[in-house]
Amino acid sequence: MNILVVNCGSSSLKYQLIDMETEKPLAKGLVERIGIEGSILTQKANGEKYIIEEPMDDHKKAIELVLKALVDGKHGVIKDMSEIASVGHRVVHGGEKYSKSVLIDEDVMKELEDCIKLAPLHNPPNLIGINACKELMPKTPMVAVFDTAFHQTLPDYAFTYALPYEMYSDLGVRKYGFHGTSHRFVSAEVAKMMGKDIKDLKIITCHLGNGASLCAINGGKAVDTTMGFTPLAGLVMGTRCGDIDPSILPFLMKELNMSADDINNVINKKSGVFGLSGVSSDFRDIENASKEGNKRAELALKVFDYKVITSIGAYVAALNGVDAIVFTAGLGENSATNREAICNGLSYLGIELDKEKNGMRGEAVEISKADSKVKVFTIPTNEELMIARDTEEIVNA
Ligand code: AMP
Repeated sequence: MNILVVNCGSSSLKYQLIDMETEKPLAKGLVERIGIEGSILTQKANGEKYIIEEPMDDHKKAIELVLKALVDGKHGVIKDMSEIASVGHRVVHGGEKYSKSVLIDEDVMKELEDCIKLAPLHNPPNLIGINACKELMPKTPMVAVFDTAFHQTLPDYAFTYALPYEMYSDLGVRKYGFHGTSHRFVSAEVAKMMGKDIKDLKIITCHLGNGASLCAINGGKAVDTTMGFTPLAGLVMGTRCGDIDPSILPFLMKELNMSADDINNVINKKSGVFGLSGVSSDFRDIENASKEGNKRAELALKVFDYKVITSIGAYVAALNGVDAIVFTAGLGENSATNREAICNGLSYLGIELDKEKNGMRGEAVEISKADSKVKVFTIPTNEELMIARDTEEIVNA
C-alpha cells in the first residue's frame, strides 16, 4: 500500500510517496515558486533527481505535475495513480475540534474553513492542497493530520491564558501548540528504544529547528507545550522572538510608529537568533560566527540555550520528574555542541552525556551514559511517516 503525503505551503509543496510495507519513501519531492515565475518541481527517487520546470499558476497544476512525476515512465516510481491508496495531508490548525487525525469529508472541510481564522497564514494553503487533490483524485480517500491535535490533551490550567475569560470562550484565544506530529512521533520512538510502554514514561521532547518547541508528555499524553495561540510563542527561534513581555509590543508601536502588521513582521521574521546575531537565521552560520569571535552570535546562542534549559526545568516541574529527554529537528538532530550546551545546564537532573555518542548523526541514538539518571536521545523526526501511519490506520478502519 502506497500513501502520498502532502504538505502545502503558500507557494511551495512538499510530498512523499511512502510504501507502507517498508515504511520507506519511494519518492520525495519539493515544488517551489507555485504561482510565481520560475516554478520548479524536484523529485528524488531511486537515488536520482528529476526536475520539471514548467509554469504552475496554482496548487492544482503543481499536484498535477507531482502525479505526472510519480507515474513518469523513466523517472517515476509507480505505473499509474491507482497505486496511490490514499493521501495524508498536513494541516497546521485543527482548533479545539480535532484531537486526532480525521478522514476528510464535506463536514470536515467546513470545519477546516472555520479554523482559518486561527491560522490565517497556514491553513488556507493546506485547504487549497486538499481541494486540488480531491479534484484530481476524486475517488482516493484523504486524511487530515493536524499539528495541533496532539496537544489537545493539555489540561485547562496549562492551556488557558490569564486574559478575560470571554476571550477564550468567545474567540478561542488559548494555547494550542504546534509541531504535534513530530512530538508524537519521537515520543513513541523513544518509548520503543527504551523498551518501555509509553504509559509508564515522563518524556520531554525538544523539537529544535527553524521553528522550535518543547512538549511535556506524561504517559503518552501531552500535558504542556511551549508554542501557544500561534507558533510564535515559547522558545527563541530562527526569526521568531518566542516569549517576550507583551507590553513591549504597544511600546514599540508607539515609539517607532509601527502598525500591527509592522510589529507582527518584526516578531515573526526579524527576531530570534537572526535578530539577535545580525548574522543569519541558520544556526550553522551563527555557530561558525560565534566560533570566530562574533559576540552577538555568541549571545544569540546563549539566549537560545538558556530558554531551552529553563523551559525544560519548567516541564520537569510540570511532569514532577522526567525519564527521558529527546532532541529532534534540524538543530536538535545535527548540532552536538548545542545539545552539549543544553545538557550542561541540566546536570542537576543527573544527566551525563556520552560525548562520543553525542557526536553521531543521522540515526536514533541514546546520547547519555548508561548510568545517567535521565536518559537523553537524539531521534530524527519523521512527520511524513507519522502522517502516512495515521492515514493508513484511518482509511483501513
Ligand atoms: P528544520 O526547521 O527542522 O528544518 O531545521 C532547520 C535548522 O536546523 C536551521 O536553522 C539549521 O541551521 C539547523 N541545522 C541543520 N543542520 C545543522 C548542523 N549541522 N548544525 C547546526 N544547525 C543545523
